[in-house]
Amino acid sequence: MSISENIKKFKAEIPEDTTLVAVSKTKPKEDILEAYEAGHRVFGENKIQEMTEKWEELPKDIQWHMIGHVQRNKVKYMAPYVSLIHAVDSLKLLKEIEKEAKKNDRSIECLLQIKIAEEESKFGISVDKAKEILSSETLQQMAHVKVVGLMGMATLTENQEKIRKEFRFLKTTFEDLKKDFPSLHILSMGMSGDYQLALDCGSNMIRVGSAIFGERNYN
Ligand SMILES: *Cc1c(COP(=O)(O)O)cnc(C)c1O
Repeated sequence: MSISENIKKFKAEIPEDTTLVAVSKTKPKEDILEAYEAGHRVFGENKIQEMTEKWEELPKDIQWHMIGHVQRNKVKYMAPYVSLIHAVDSLKLLKEIEKEAKKNDRSIECLLQIKIAEEESKFGISVDKAKEILSSETLQQMAHVKVVGLMGMATLTENQEKIRKEFRFLKTTFEDLKKDFPSLHILSMGMSGDYQLALDCGSNMIRVGSAIFGERNYN
């Protein structure tokens, strides 16, 4: 199926209150434009430089999500336009985002990445650490950063039960934290291989790359 057909299929398939982030990393502008012309506006990238080049050249009503690990010294490049940063994992990073958002007279929405997979290679913080960040005085005082939800990546495995357990854990954590921190309303979980399971477990934002744009040659 073509990119535009895939976009239409996803739109028809997922609940209305669920956001589809079309992960366009490594893919050319032409592919993004095809999805754009099919009506899609939310795209995800995992490298700040690549995202910024695409932002410069593509229509300005695209909402760009940074879904990858963020280096603090690169926040300034995306601060003028980024719409949501998914993988925040420290107060230090939030401080940098606050500083750069302020310079641009913007407010930037962020998610905290919770580590739910067992792989060492996966980024993210513990639930306790997330609580600590959310309750910190420093965060309360940030006028240009808003933590609006959680993000997680399940273990890369064929074992559906394991993935389901990890997603359920994140959903429970999300519901728990929401009681104390009502600004949380986004739960970003689910990719091409596991989005159906993620939706079953309560995700309201899925990040889908290869199932829309085809396989990538590199990450
Ligand atoms: C690449 C990537 C995705 C999309 O992966 P697919 O399997 O191609 O859907 C989702 N989330 C993150 C954080 C990614 O880096």
